[in-house]
Amino acid sequence: MTDEIRLQLDDHMYERLAALTGGAVAVCYQCGTCTASCPWGLVREDYLPVRTIIHQAQLGVPGWQDNLWLCTTCGQCEALCPRGVKIIDIFRGLRELAWESNHVEKGLPSLLWSVYWSENPWSQPPSQRAAWAKGLDLPVFDATQHEILLYVGCTSSYDQRAQKIARALVSTLNAAGVKYGYLGNEEPCCGESVLSVGNKEYFKEIAGKTAAVFKEKGVTDLVVISPHCYDVFKNHYPMAENYLKPKHYTQYLADLISEGRLKFEVALKEKVTFQDPCYLGRHNGEYEAPRQILSAIPGIELVEMETNRSEGLCCGGGGGRMWLETVNAERFSNLRVKQAEKTGAGTLATACPFCTVCLEDSAKNLPPGKMRVKDIAEIAAQALKKPRE
Ligand code: SF4
Ligand code: SF4
Repeated sequence: MTDEIRLQLDDHMYERLAALTGGAVAVCYQCGTCTASCPWGLVREDYLPVRTIIHQAQLGVPGWQDNLWLCTTCGQCEALCPRGVKIIDIFRGLRELAWESNHVEKGLPSLLWSVYWSENPWSQPPSQRAAWAKGLDLPVFDATQHEILLYVGCTSSYDQRAQKIARALVSTLNAAGVKYGYLGNEEPCCGESVLSVGNKEYFKEIAGKTAAVFKEKGVTDLVVISPHCYDVFKNHYPMAENYLKPKHYTQYLADLISEGRLKFEVALKEKVTFQDPCYLGRHNGEYEAPRQILSAIPGIELVEMETNRSEGLCCGGGGGRMWLETVNAERFSNLRVKQAEKTGAGTLATACPFCTVCLEDSAKNLPPGKMRVKDIAEIAAQALKKPRE
């Protein structure tokens, strides 16, 4: 008697995925570069089988659900794929299918409820959104008076560590004499957390509402703190692409330095290495602006880690992973902090609230005081003018 192997093909799944991703899976020729380059292989014996997941999606066979929520959407695999496969689109498409069949990781439905009820993924009251700015006396955005809208984003509004980044950026904008305003408690969520976990329908609803708020207030130029907000406004807001001109704050500060509006007077005497946030670097090709700012600060010696720019290691916080538990032994940020330590730097700089939170947590594994984690906005604020006597 011969053993019979039965494959359960799901034509509907294949067709839906092809429609959701513009046929992205079809291009893959199964070389395995993606699996080999994925950082999960550095921290888990049970790595993320990217090639296999894509193959299962190509054939329309089940199995892909198992590791779907591990992907941090870091883009490392896409950067190296010889066929230019849109691997992140495939993961997002599969996640969308998983929502349709209720196969989602525990913890994610409450993330969506939080965005629905509280308009932020941190389950914090909307009435406290502007609490980070207490005492700063910030003006509410007025398109007739202001050069830019400072878009703070949910993480820098509510997370206590990230709030310090927002306050530091305010000092720097003030020092450069920028005319800007913010939206206070009325600032809407950009929806990135919802997009990253693959609920595209709900994301479109949020994006439509947020774009309408910007239009009504006359917002065109906005400067954002998180590369995740930047990416979503730049690449996923088709309804606003004709009028919205987002900039990441490092790009804006680098421009202010070139124009002679922002000057640093205080020498910091620090050896600094820089973590490229995936959504600033690999997703949007911006590697230079953060380095230009660091290089403009007197006393800073900038050194690079063994992997940097397009090969830089992800902190582990993207793709919805900020809202899922990652055991300590499997955190990419632990490896990144060790890479930073090897450079001899005492400061690990980054330009993303997710990176700051993840890396600072991992730096606690090193001896106390060995590695400071700072956002570039904080470093810039420290190097501003000396107070006049
Ligand atoms: S690297 Fe690209 S072509 Fe190779 S298996 Fe992965 S997705 Fe397919
Ligand atoms: S995007 Fe990053 S985490 Fe996701 S499969 Fe590719 S390399 Fe792995």
